[in-house]
Amino acid sequence: MAVPAQADELRDAVAADMPGLMELYRDLHAHPELSFQEVKTAAKLAARMRELGFTVTEQVGRTGVVAVLENGEGPTVMLRADMDGLPVVEQTGLPFASKEVAVPASGVETGVMHACGHDTHMAAWYGAAMQLVERRDSWSGTLVMILQPAEELGEGALAMIEDGLYTRFPKPDYVIAFHDAAQFPAGMIGYSPGFALANVDSVDVVIPGVGGHGAYPHTTRDPIVLASAIVMKLQTLVSRESSPLEPAVVTVGSFHSGAKHNIISDEARLQLTVRSYTDESRKLLLDGIARIARGEAIAAGMPEDRMPEVTVQEPYTPATYNSPDFTEDVMAAFRERFGQDRVQQVPSVMGGEDFSQYLRADPEGVKSLIFWVGGVPQEQFDAAQRGEATLPSLHSPFWAPDAEKVIATAAEALTAATLDLMPAAGG
Ligand SMILES: [Zn+2]
Ligand SMILES: [Zn+2]
Repeated sequence: MAVPAQADELRDAVAADMPGLMELYRDLHAHPELSFQEVKTAAKLAARMRELGFTVTEQVGRTGVVAVLENGEGPTVMLRADMDGLPVVEQTGLPFASKEVAVPASGVETGVMHACGHDTHMAAWYGAAMQLVERRDSWSGTLVMILQPAEELGEGALAMIEDGLYTRFPKPDYVIAFHDAAQFPAGMIGYSPGFALANVDSVDVVIPGVGGHGAYPHTTRDPIVLASAIVMKLQTLVSRESSPLEPAVVTVGSFHSGAKHNIISDEARLQLTVRSYTDESRKLLLDGIARIARGEAIAAGMPEDRMPEVTVQEPYTPATYNSPDFTEDVMAAFRERFGQDRVQQVPSVMGGEDFSQYLRADPEGVKSLIFWVGGVPQEQFDAAQRGEATLPSLHSPFWAPDAEKVIATAAEALTAATLDLMPAAGG
């Protein structure tokens, strides 16, 4: 990657903190907790934030933490890190690999791993807290630092907001977070102005049929044939109904029906993931799914009282929007700080992030930004470029980012962005 920008006082200060931050990271990595079970993680970091002088409130949105530092007149900046690990059995072989087990909502005990890198988020977030406390003479305003539970369920941000994040605590003017990235080299900063991540909807479709003997299909209404017709017709939503210029995904990820060769089942069940950016596009897809399911059932001769049942799961994860002007301002400063090559605009993705909720809770009053910090060790990235290696994705049991680079880059970036937003009076 790029030649680092010139030596810098902030960078040196973060570098001096890195041994301690790496120790924190290894501890967090070895002891991940599942969504809404982040009790020890929250307690550990809450105690550290109190020691730094923040006013800390725990159990906001179940296991969330809000740490506030009021430091004179000025804007309110909120920095967010997410805390949860995943039900994944770690296979990185790292000396500090997780050996934790836990029971997720499914009820089946599983290994737990920080396979999404939220451990790097927390360590960098804490690194930024240390620097901002150290530098409190050079900024003026209110700093709100939050640890969010259950990002992986897409429920933690809303849980904190519904528990009074914007009413019990100073409401932010700016909200910033980062996520480690498994497709970029370690230390690269990527960003997408405007829509960065998609609306994520989970849709269940239950399709009744009329069961019977496999040799007497004329006495039945076969739900597998009907469901198959629905699956194929759903493909036309993106290809024929959605604008070619509007990103959209309709994926049928699960199709279940029947138990035996010679029995025509009386029900089929589909599970879909639906992705979009705008509210209008989301509505077009969801309305289309309901219409196609019903239309195909009518075509199959199903009676009115046995129409397919389409359920859109609540709450859904709304699309993440990076306020464009704010994003460009921060990135211009990052380019100056980290060098042109290290800061790049990248395509938006159809993944989801409930970071979106912080903007949606007050679209007029809040500007928000989430950026990527590449985590792929440079030699692995180079090998993949040469076609000699495939890179593990986020959520992979093999995801082992170059944590040192991610944390150092992100701690510096979060600190620098915050300082820029809250200049000291006369400073
Ligand atoms: Zn994740
Ligand atoms: Zn994540």
